[in-house]
Amino acid sequence: MTTTLYLVRLGEISLKGMNRDFFERKLKDNIKYKLRPYKNFFKKQKGRLFIEIDDAAPAEVVQQALSTTFGVVGYSAALKCQKDMESIKAAALTLASRSSFLEGAKTFKVETVRSDKSFPLKSYDISGELGHEILMAQPQFTVDVHHPDRIVHVEIRDQAYLYASPVPGPGGLPVGTAGRGMLMLSGGIDSPIAAYRMAKRGLRQEAVYFHAYPYTSDEAKEKVITLAKLLSPYCSGITLHVVPFTDVQLHIKTHSHEEENTLMMRACMMRIANKLAIKRNCLAVVTGESLSQVASQTLESLAFTNSMSELPVFRPLIGMDKGEIIETSRMIGTYETSILPFEDCCTIFSPKHPLVRPDKVQQTATYQAMEIEELLDQAVEKAEIFNL
Ligand code: ATP
Ligand code: MG
Repeated sequence: MTTTLYLVRLGEISLKGMNRDFFERKLKDNIKYKLRPYKNFFKKQKGRLFIEIDDAAPAEVVQQALSTTFGVVGYSAALKCQKDMESIKAAALTLASRSSFLEGAKTFKVETVRSDKSFPLKSYDISGELGHEILMAQPQFTVDVHHPDRIVHVEIRDQAYLYASPVPGPGGLPVGTAGRGMLMLSGGIDSPIAAYRMAKRGLRQEAVYFHAYPYTSDEAKEKVITLAKLLSPYCSGITLHVVPFTDVQLHIKTHSHEEENTLMMRACMMRIANKLAIKRNCLAVVTGESLSQVASQTLESLAFTNSMSELPVFRPLIGMDKGEIIETSRMIGTYETSILPFEDCCTIFSPKHPLVRPDKVQQTATYQAMEIEELLDQAVEKAEIFNL
């Protein structure tokens, strides 16, 4: 009998020393959560995981789960069968008839590792016999032992295991291994990519969106909810806090000079993000800022906003060009939603000539004179929560 299973390769995790178990357990939990409707069974082995999954699980569901889980460096669908040449040959032929094996390939080789030395054939002979069988069944192929397009891996251990060249996974470290952060998620292109990059380093994230209804529409809020849903598989779930921001915006408008409005708004966002972060046990704030992208992201502006934060602020896009950010956004599928034309609160209250080189001392004085802290606390209390 043959069973389908998946072999998952772990990269950086397998280099971890004493903590390796912790990283592997998180990875297992994150994958298990995605496969929860189906019976599954995990087995650990140096540098990799074997997952046996109920045949009812569609291959696309498993592939989607593995290709969005950080910590997975690569994966391949594998076959497990009894340790006799008849069963092994049948499994090799099944593997070599899959479209993922056939498409775009002309050459192959078989590579065998025989851990069970009592198996009657040597590795070289097993590879030879299986290569011959595959050539008979797929005569369009030729064998190339140096640079094959495909490799059929065969391992003879407690049973026989066969798998083809792995599909690349997203890499990185499992979400939940690096603590928790509070992401400032707008409806734009950048902040979802900031979330993706921090999730890739294992940070679990909650998100905050500042919603200035009716100056920003319900569609703008729906757009952010959609973005959070799209990020959710990469983040192993995400809790979104929608904070009502209108009262804060109006207060800023009447208590600061027009050219300072954006900076004051940024300061208030940072303060609220800090308050929420502390309330939700997060140790950092994450933003999608990129150096000099807009007036509020010059070094002077960032220095001012940064001074409003008690927590470390992670800006994973700080050194990235817009083009590079867009590339990732297309890859993970957030781009089409991000470019929908609903204005967010920043654009509506934006001054015509915002300060580009603010003075930290002067702007801090403006901020304090606004006496806005109580309004910020109220906004935090009124946040609407979505578990996505
Ligand atoms: P994005 O494309 O992510 O919207 P942006 O280029 O429009 O970024 P800004 O509007 O200056 O830049 O925002 C910088 C960062 O501040 C965003 O990446 C995001 O982290 C945060 N931010 C901006 N607006 C909001 C909002 N309404 N709610 C939550 N966070 C926000
Ligand atoms: Mg924005």
